Amino acid sequence: MLFFERPCTELWRMISKLKLALNALLHLVYPRQCLFCSWDLLHFEEVICTHCKVELPRAFPFLVHPQMKKVFFGRCDFHQLIVGYKMEKTGIIRELMHALKYRQHPEVGQALGKSWAMAMKNSCGTLPWDVIVPVPLHPDKFKKRGYNQAEEIAVGLSEAWNISVSKDVLIRRTNGVSQTFQNRWIRNSKSDNPFGIAKGEALANLRVLVIDDVITTGATLVQCYDALKEIPGIKISFGALAIPVHNRIVV
Ligand SMILES: [Zn+2]
Repeated sequence: MLFFERPCTELWRMISKLKLALNALLHLVYPRQCLFCSWDLLHFEEVICTHCKVELPRAFPFLVHPQMKKVFFGRCDFHQLIVGYKMEKTGIIRELMHALKYRQHPEVGQALGKSWAMAMKNSCGTLPWDVIVPVPLHPDKFKKRGYNQAEEIAVGLSEAWNISVSKDVLIRRTNGVSQTFQNRWIRNSKSDNPFGIAKGEALANLRVLVIDDVITTGATLVQCYDALKEIPGIKISFGALAIPVHNRIVV
């Protein structure tokens, strides 16, 4: 037994040393930099440096965020509502969310998702969901951007929590009208809802966490709720990576 164990350990040690050397070489040729402060990243850092990571403005890790609860008051009967970070008008989260959505940096979603997930796990322990459902992009928009930012965030959460991601049940049929300045009390009829369900039985009797990048009026998540609630026994919770601190909710 020992005869086999020792060469194996030596081999792994050599492989990890080789990996470190290759990373150092790669860094010389193609230096990785922090997306916010442009400081060179160390081999174990992803997307942002440790200093910037410590400075991230975390929202309190509530299972039902009190400020955002008000946004959905009287509109739908969700279970939990979690939020990752506070987004000021300028600053690190605003910058990173812009890079994720408009500057072709899908890795920001996974890195921030993972960091948020670890903070939630440390403070809440066991998490009350069976599956994560990212808010889908319309296929045309997906083709143009090349990725869905909500899906990237969901992957980051999934890796840290070991909970699967469902991408095929909640679907987007149309692009829909931008909800940003729409009165939050306006409810679309079922035929106006850009979201629909395909093979909904896959989520029957499950506790589902619907993930979006940012919550502003909450209209998108309410539309997702309206589509998903048709599935028997489903329990729906909401999550968003960031909320604007100066949220201009249209009431
Ligand atoms: Zn930095």
